[in-house]
Amino acid sequence: MFRIRRSSHCLLGCLGRFGCLAIVAAIPSVGGFCQAAPSAAPGAPELRVFDPSLIDKSVDPCDNFYRYSCNGWFKRNPLPPDETSYGRFTELYELNRLHLKQILEQAAVPAPSRTPNEQKIGDEYASCMDTAAIDKAGIAPLQAELDRIAALKSLTELPPLVGHLQTIGVNAFFGMGSNQDYADSNSVISFYGAGGLGLPERDYYTRTDAKSMEQRKEYVAHVSKIFALAGEPEAQADKDASTVLAIETRLAKASLTITEQRDPQNLNHPTDLDAFNKQLTHFSLHGYLDATHAPASGKMDDMEPKFFAEFNAVLGDTPLDQVKTYLRWHLLHAYAGTSMPTAFDEETWHFYSHILNGAEKQQERWKRCTSRIDSEMGEALGQVYVAKYFPPDAKQHALEMTLAIEQAMDKDVDSLDWMSADTKVRAKEKLHTVMNKIGYPDKWRDYSKLEIVRGDVLGNEERVTQFEFARDLAKIGKPVDKSEWQMSPPTVNAYYDPQQNNVNFPAGYFQPPFFSDKEDDAANYGDMGSTIGHELTHGFDDQGRQFDKDGNLKDWWTKEDEQKFNDRADCEVKQYDAIEAVPGVHLNGKLTLGENLADLGGLWLAWLAWLDKAQTAHLDMNAKTDGYTPDQRFWVAYAQQWCTQTRPEQLRTQAQTDPHAPDEYRTNTVLTDLPEFAKSFSCKKTDKMVNPKPCRVW
Ligand SMILES: [Zn+2]
Repeated sequence: MFRIRRSSHCLLGCLGRFGCLAIVAAIPSVGGFCQAAPSAAPGAPELRVFDPSLIDKSVDPCDNFYRYSCNGWFKRNPLPPDETSYGRFTELYELNRLHLKQILEQAAVPAPSRTPNEQKIGDEYASCMDTAAIDKAGIAPLQAELDRIAALKSLTELPPLVGHLQTIGVNAFFGMGSNQDYADSNSVISFYGAGGLGLPERDYYTRTDAKSMEQRKEYVAHVSKIFALAGEPEAQADKDASTVLAIETRLAKASLTITEQRDPQNLNHPTDLDAFNKQLTHFSLHGYLDATHAPASGKMDDMEPKFFAEFNAVLGDTPLDQVKTYLRWHLLHAYAGTSMPTAFDEETWHFYSHILNGAEKQQERWKRCTSRIDSEMGEALGQVYVAKYFPPDAKQHALEMTLAIEQAMDKDVDSLDWMSADTKVRAKEKLHTVMNKIGYPDKWRDYSKLEIVRGDVLGNEERVTQFEFARDLAKIGKPVDKSEWQMSPPTVNAYYDPQQNNVNFPAGYFQPPFFSDKEDDAANYGDMGSTIGHELTHGFDDQGRQFDKDGNLKDWWTKEDEQKFNDRADCEVKQYDAIEAVPGVHLNGKLTLGENLADLGGLWLAWLAWLDKAQTAHLDMNAKTDGYTPDQRFWVAYAQQWCTQTRPEQLRTQAQTDPHAPDEYRTNTVLTDLPEFAKSFSCKKTDKMVNPKPCRVW
């Protein structure tokens, strides 16, 4: 499903055409860019927040702290063939997924005692697992939609068709959805954004290096194969695939780059539906609005005017048959995952997971079906999950840590020597307004109007998508619901929402190896504390700082302070630009700036909060546990959350598309900027883990 790109920041990204909200647990049923991990081996060692058995003492901590902290984990966890990357987040998600599987298997037994939600998640899981029935049905369940496209007679009939296709999750040309008005965070309006691509993002269509050209060739071969599977003769399928690439390339070239999209000012183009409609001379919005049941008038945001001008031009000079070919591809593409016969599913995996990201084997079916239900009905599944696996005292502990870190930030703002008193007052106002959401929603989503039919897996996917589309549009014109969550409770991730000024930590995250009641503050603050600090710092990174305490895109900085912020941030841009992730591909310092600021600021805040706690408790800073002082264990716990194995293909994709730096740099590069770390391990100024001119904003 296309989602309007909100400005939210996740702790982790995963790569896909779903934009910045794609997360580890919400694995799309199509494509599967973000594969999760295999099950933990029986008898696998207990997960710990600070784990001394993972430390490799043969590595000098001042030379490579990541290797020092993680080598033991790497030895214990070879990269599984069905994974493109596998780290501690996937390790925990995998355990969560085993719990979800048990819930789903139980719900799939058609007992009369099932609750309505159990019927839905259980029947959807059973339908998804029934590959024999899916293969037998072939392409027939999609025939009605294919016929609709084939019946298109003229451009005037196009808008209602595009509208309908978008409601069932087809990424046809552009995306539309609801979001808070940038100028008035209390009001929800419609947003129209660029879309319509089959490759991960626009630069895949424009780069001219050999590897990128090879990927485009493979993409065309993939599109052709999908057309052939749908019954086209080979020559026609090849021709049609070239048509798709040509149309998508035009759309891509008119779209903003992912770095440009990070600046909310670039997406802030308020207009109204009448004016927008007048610009689209080849696409009457009226039919489109009827089909989507979107508001027919009022304020809206044209997120990418250049894109919509080109979309209009494409319709003006592309033969209708080619438009139909393009739509047919996106329809097949939207469903060619767990809803379609094995041949479609495997071909889609081959291109998106194997070619683009290096996976060697398709994930087991139950894993993909479990992730599918989590992504489709996360709050129906999550409700059972939370009752079984989320202890209330974990919520209390997390809340206490969050408040301690907010207090640390309060003191940190006071101590900044570069910020004026005026801006400090406003920064603190914003900090004191942040809302903390922990675990799961206060009010669960109501799925009573969603129909799930056992045995109709493709129809279920259509209905789920329509249900979510309608739920999203129903927000327009209503008061903003700040209690809503963008992640399901079992998700192992977290996010900050700048338009609502809240931090969100799903229940799935509050477990070892990230947090444990059995371990001390040094471990928990180094790990989960740094994540809380990370999300909080997002409210003050290059993007978040542009929003005020109420979530309006409104400048609250003096010009001088803004300049000083940018100068300091520029230090990090250069630092990350200099990193070559894979041969020939450097990290993009501007794309990753918000995450890098949040990593450094977040760890610093966790450190301050922990020191404060340690001092209050008169902790003996020289007393060793497992051979390490409390401060050393704080830094190791930080590093060990990032132990991750990644395939070079995936690393390349990540460097080109992900706003998060690869985990090795989220560890080492961040720590080189903290002299307090160097002191804990007695590192010398000339050591690799010490930046002689450390970057620092917060
Ligand atoms: Zn983040």
